[in-house]
Amino acid sequence: MTTDKPPAVNSDPLISTGHDSLDAHSAIPKAGHLPAAQIRQMLQQRWGDALLERLHAIGRIAANLGTPAYLVGGSVRDLLQNHPTPDVDLAIEGDVRAVAGACSAELSGVQCTYHPQFGTAILQYPDGFQLDLARCRIEHYPAPAALPEVQPGDIQADLIRRDFTINAMAISLDPENFGDFLDPYGGREDLQHSLLRVLHPLSFLDDPTRILRGLRFAVRFQLQLEIDTRGLLEEALAQDIFARLSGARLWRELKYLLELTDLPAALEKLGAWQLWTLLRPAPLELEALLARIRRGQQEIKWFHCHFSGEKLLGAAVLLTILWRDVPWAEAEKRLHYWPLAEGCHILNDLHRLSEMPVALAKASRPSAVARLWESLSLPGMLALRAEYPETDAITESGRYYLLKQRGLTSPLNGKDLQAMGLAPGPQLGKVLRRLHDARLDGAIKDKETARQWLIRQGILPAIQP
Ligand code: ATP
Ligand code: MG
Repeated sequence: MTTDKPPAVNSDPLISTGHDSLDAHSAIPKAGHLPAAQIRQMLQQRWGDALLERLHAIGRIAANLGTPAYLVGGSVRDLLQNHPTPDVDLAIEGDVRAVAGACSAELSGVQCTYHPQFGTAILQYPDGFQLDLARCRIEHYPAPAALPEVQPGDIQADLIRRDFTINAMAISLDPENFGDFLDPYGGREDLQHSLLRVLHPLSFLDDPTRILRGLRFAVRFQLQLEIDTRGLLEEALAQDIFARLSGARLWRELKYLLELTDLPAALEKLGAWQLWTLLRPAPLELEALLARIRRGQQEIKWFHCHFSGEKLLGAAVLLTILWRDVPWAEAEKRLHYWPLAEGCHILNDLHRLSEMPVALAKASRPSAVARLWESLSLPGMLALRAEYPETDAITESGRYYLLKQRGLTSPLNGKDLQAMGLAPGPQLGKVLRRLHDARLDGAIKDKETARQWLIRQGILPAIQP
């Protein structure tokens, strides 16, 4: 691609630079030797001259320190596929801190943050672009599903510790051989054949989170399990490998899964890979469940659209939907192991949700309806809305509560009431609640109408000083 001026740095790597001459027929160049010149061309065409120059600069700095640098992992995979890459990862054969420090000293405006506990660093460029640096390492798993013991290694060791062949490729940034492509396990060929393949037979036993990582990659990139890898998955499940994984690590992977835009496809794959039990018993009516999940995802989007600054754990909405028809004890058992702050609300919501339709139908006043919605957590409210079509009265009622009623407060607070002569204590709390209800029912709208209402209710004497 020749242009008059160099393209700006693609500071948001989520933005792919689109098609180019390399992928007229396929985004992934055909298997076989992939010369450095072709990789350099790919980097320039897909990521732009300015990012290429940044990679050259780091390669130079790292080489001067005698610690070669490589582009690795998901970045290489995404580059080959011409997919947007969310983060650009570099592996350093040596002291990351020294390389990051030298980059920040020599490159204008670049700041580095070093994390000693992980031996990693982040390079932050003035335009917001960032690069992640990690030391090449050897990993040894002392027991199945345990965290690995780590020691420094070279790029070959760093590639073999990785999860799948498609993530075990590297590109040299060394000035002597910039663009040299390292693909010892045939990751490029597997990408071309849409295959997900582990690097060695113990991979899933060492780290069962790779099974769920693999499921996400399979959904994202439409990959099939390579046949031996499928056998290894079955073997790992036969050994009940997930029972050895800590709840925190399992939950982190499940949360990533629940955050996938294509969650319905991921859930279908969960079934195909015999993994339902991680989340819930296999559903009897999968299609109906997937339809509710899709509505749940729309609800989450709807909520973020209307309340952009407000926090919402989307995973809790989806879990509530997923657990609606499972025995309560099943949900409780799982939440017991997962460090999910919202867990207790999910259990409460699961109790409440079954009663809600009848209770809502019976509630005559707006305040009664609002109190019912308030008995659910936010994820519970969205999960309930997701059970019904957009036009259903329950969905409408939930929308009305969230948009109109939730923000309504009583025009008088506790201090106002005390200034009017009411004594502090539980009675005051009851009056405040009644005032809030009166506001929800439209009986009062401001301080004055609230004061008159208090008089009519006999709470305040008729003549106020
Ligand atoms: P994404 O686009 O989702 O970020 P990614 O491949 O970059 O995909 P990361 O979680 O960012 O995934 O991990 C970066 C790289 O680290 C992976 O490509 C893989 O090589 C390696 N990696 C991450 N987790 C594991 C794991 N549990 N076991 C082995 N290698 C892993
Ligand atoms: Mg990544």
